[in-house]
Order: sequence, then structure tokens, then C-alpha cells
Amino acid sequence: MFKKILIANRGEIALRVQRACRELGIATVAVHSTADADAMHVRLSDESVCIGPPSARESYLNMPAILSAALITGAEAIHPGYGFLSENADFAEMVEAHNLVFIGPSASHIRMMGDKITAKTTMLELGVPLVPGSPGELDTLDAAYAIAENIKYPVLIKAAAGGGGRGMKVAQNRSELESAFREARIEAAAAFGNAAVYMEKYLDRPRHIELQVLADSFGQVVHFGERDCSLQRRHQKILEEAGSPAITPAQRDALGQTVTEALQKIGYRNAGTLEFLYQDGHFSFIEMNTRLQVEHPVSEMISGMDLVHEQIRIAAGEPLGYTQSDIHLTGHAIECRITAEDSETFAPSPGLITVYHPPGGLGVRVDSALYTGYRVPSNYDSLIAKLITHGKTRSEAIARMKRALREYVISGIKTTIPLHQRILENPDFIAGDYTIHWLEKFVARSGLN
Ligand code: ADP
Repeated sequence: MFKKILIANRGEIALRVQRACRELGIATVAVHSTADADAMHVRLSDESVCIGPPSARESYLNMPAILSAALITGAEAIHPGYGFLSENADFAEMVEAHNLVFIGPSASHIRMMGDKITAKTTMLELGVPLVPGSPGELDTLDAAYAIAENIKYPVLIKAAAGGGGRGMKVAQNRSELESAFREARIEAAAAFGNAAVYMEKYLDRPRHIELQVLADSFGQVVHFGERDCSLQRRHQKILEEAGSPAITPAQRDALGQTVTEALQKIGYRNAGTLEFLYQDGHFSFIEMNTRLQVEHPVSEMISGMDLVHEQIRIAAGEPLGYTQSDIHLTGHAIECRITAEDSETFAPSPGLITVYHPPGGLGVRVDSALYTGYRVPSNYDSLIAKLITHGKTRSEAIARMKRALREYVISGIKTTIPLHQRILENPDFIAGDYTIHWLEKFVARSGLN
């Protein structure tokens, strides 16, 4: 097992990984920008290294600075968290080239899944069902017209290198396709430096269902059931649940078997998530994330497993030591992503936290790096806390979330706690009756945006 790990991230996820290291008796090295010198992940780590100015490009994305920090401090492995360098195959390669261990999959798997067209072709070959669409890159408008006629409108143009919901354009009909195609390519080139786009049928009422997997270096692959992440605004997840109110245990088992067999065939290693759209009883693969996800705690709550412990053990070359039949999913878990934003206009609200008091009690988990007197910087993602509740049933998890949100005090800035409170009171949410389009309509209906 490693003695020292560098955590190449910030905020709640840096703290989350640090907690796992501490429990495994592993020393931690934090890296931080000058804007984060007082951050909790720096205060609680064994050692810390300043890697650059506030701009993420010059700090948390600065590969030479991070590698130097690891070499100077004698860290043996690097955990990338999510975002930043977590899905950067070049970084994973550089880490290994310096005789350090990248806590994640191989660079070739990151690359394979990072290009969504390659990811989809690979999954199709492995027998995983896809959303109908273009077989590969769409290189001409004529090809786009032909495929759209075949799969029928509405269609979605997506960036091959896409992420974070960017570079996606819907065309409701033929007359909208030309501008959707052109704009998606321009946006993809600007955001990802790669103009390649592809087409999918635009589904009108799917749920976003994803499956959490872990694989060791010995061909053992297991899954931890599904998460329902359908509550999204601008393709960004807001509230997640495990399990999905719409999926039966038989569906979970079948999907789990398809996915674990596919990953076993390609020799995948470490944690990963396969994302699907689910509509009319069918699952359609959309992408795979080759890293830990923001919403991983809901899977941990229902399985009792620490996924970061497992990632570290796998990276250290240990076998999983258990099989699918040893994984028991119990109860229901919900996660509310709390951001430093106005809950009605979604305007950013960075600033000084004057009072911080997190909720507690049975079945409540708070993943956050906030504290009283902390200043939320304006330079990074607005996620400031994840509130997770677990209950024997979904209604218990909801009741617990409502009372935990009431207890949560974050003063000095605006947060999205009131938005979550409104969602949790809504009859559609309570009934589990929602699709990926529900939240946008809910926000618009409430006259909030
Ligand atoms: P990103 O990597 O940018 O997050 P994804 O492919 O994961 O992109 O899609 C993000 C979200 O966009 C999905 O969760 C879903 O809400 C929506 N979406 C993606 N593909 C489709 C589709 N074919 N039809 C309808 N909605 C879609």
C-alpha cells in the first residue's frame, strides 16, 4: 500500500479523498492555488504545496507544477478527484512516466472513453445498446440531413470531446439542422479544441440512469447499482438518487451484467460510470466517465462501501477480494448539490461565509470544505457542499433530507438550499415521476428564471 498520496484537486472532493487516505493510514499532500491558501483541504492535509495563481489553467491544470509537487514531497501516487485533470489521458501518462501511480484507469481507457464517438462504437461492439444516431463523426451537412431523416426529428448534435453539457444543439426539424450543426461545431472547437460532432435522436422523456462500477487489475468487475440523475438544469445534475424510483431489481441486474461483462472484455481498471438514457423500458448508452463522480456518495450510502478506499486499493495492485454477490444494496439515498448561487436566478454568489453550521444526525452526510470565516472564491466551480441522506425507504430519505436542509446554516452568501426545499415538496418528485426535462420546466413554472 502507498505511504503518501498527492491529491490533485480542491474543495469538497480533495477533502473526501483525504479522508479515505487518512483511514487507510496514508499521508496526504495537498496542492493549492494562491486563492486557496486558507482552504480546508490545505489545512487538514499533512503537507501542502502552492502550485500557482488563482486561474485553474495555471494551478489545478498545471501538469508540470503538480508533478513537481509530487516528486518533491515523495508522494507515490496521485488521485485526481473529478474535473480538472481527472480525465486527461496525457496527464495519466505523464504521472506513470515519472514512476508515480495514477489512481484511475489506464491512459488508453481514458482516451477511448474521452472521445464519445470511440466510446459509443466500442460499447456497440460489446453489445451495449446505444441511442439511435450517426455511426461516427458527422462530417458534412448532407450526411446530417440523411441520418436525421432516417432516425426522425428531433435530433441532437453533440461534441465528440464534449463534457459538462456543452456543445450540444437540438434540431426540432430540417430547417433547424443547418444552424445546429454549424453552431455545435463552432462551440465544440472553442470549448474542447476539437470540432468533431455526432448525432443522436433527441429523446423527449428519458431518465438519466448511470451505473457505478469498480474493476481490479485481475479482471474482476462489480457494479453498485444505478443512480438516477435526471434532475438537471442545462444538462448539469442538481439532485441525485440511488436507486432510481423507475428501475426494478431485475432491470438493475440485467444492466449490471451487460456492463460488467463489457468492461471485463476491454480490461477496464478502477472506478467508472456508464451513463444511459432510459425511456419506454430501454436503456441507451450515452457516455462513460472514467473517474470518481460528484454523486458517488449515494452509491456509497446504499452499499456501505467506500469507493475511494477501493480506488486506492485497486491502484496499489490489490484484488477487489469480493464478487457481485457480496454487494448488498440497502435503503435509499439522495444527494442535493448545494452551490453558491442565487436559488432563483442562478447568479453566482461567492463571498465570505459568516456563519456555517452543517446538519447531522442519523443517516446524514455532509461533503463540504466550508467553514465559518471561509471566503468562497469566484475562480472555480460553484459547488460548495453535497448533502446526502440515507433512509430505509425513499420516503424516509426524503423526510431526512427536508429536515437536514432546514438545519443547514450557510450565512453570508446565497445558496441553492431553497431550490432543493421546493423540489422536495413537489408532488411529482415525491412520486418519483420525473424525466431529464422536468427540472427546467419546474424552474420556469415557478417563474424563477
Ligand atoms: P456531457 O458529457 O456534456 O455531460 P452527456 O452525453 O453526458 O454530455 O449528456 C448530458 C445530458 O444531456 C444527459 O444527462 C441528458 O440530460 C442530456 N442528453 C444527452 N443526450 C441526449 C439525447 N440523445 N436526448 C435527450 N437528452 C440527451
